[in-house]
Amino acid sequence: MHVLLFDIDGTLIDAGGAGQSAMEQAVVQLFGHTRPVVGIHAAGRTDRAIGRDLFDYYSIPATDDNWSRYLQTYLSLLPDSLKTKPGSILPGVVPLIEHLSRHDDVFLGLLTGNFAEGARVKLQHFGLHHHFKMGGYGDAHIHRDDVAREAYVTVQGHLPHVAPEHVWVVGDTPADIQCARAIGAKVLAVSTGIYSYDDLAPHQPDILMNDLTAAETWLTSLGLS
Ligand SMILES: [Mg+2]
Repeated sequence: MHVLLFDIDGTLIDAGGAGQSAMEQAVVQLFGHTRPVVGIHAAGRTDRAIGRDLFDYYSIPATDDNWSRYLQTYLSLLPDSLKTKPGSILPGVVPLIEHLSRHDDVFLGLLTGNFAEGARVKLQHFGLHHHFKMGGYGDAHIHRDDVAREAYVTVQGHLPHVAPEHVWVVGDTPADIQCARAIGAKVLAVSTGIYSYDDLAPHQPDILMNDLTAAETWLTSLGLS
């Protein structure tokens, strides 16, 4: 069995900034802050970490109530944000995922910094959600390595005997590569996000490609072509 854990933003889809825009709108709507957000990076990070930075940036008290209202408002704004922003599914993703979905010995999951519900909304918008059985998400974790650990524990709930070397993480940032190593998994990195091929190469993924249209060699090496 091959367990393949996909990142979402920059790997499966380019949501056109819909997520970040909905987060910033949520803060404006709830707390009335309109000062432009600068210096909060999103790529490879968890929604929990990005939200914490937004709260810090505007000096919003990080109470459970504020957080809960922020999360609900973000999720209510996300569908319209996805409709307004010019997003797309990234090259090679649809044929790859459809091919993998037909294999009995492939277990497809998510390893994403998105809130679980945000991940569902984004992937449903692009018609991809039904392919993924489970995931590790960014609701509770500041560090992506902890998301990978959560994903691996969830995978073990479905497949108790899976060994880490049969787990692949597919992602677009150095943090995706690092979190795969935290669970002993292999990594396929793609430069379809904000990091270029040359940015990612020094982080030594097992395989590095410009986009998933080149995934055939990877599939062949796994016996999945
Ligand atoms: Mg990403």
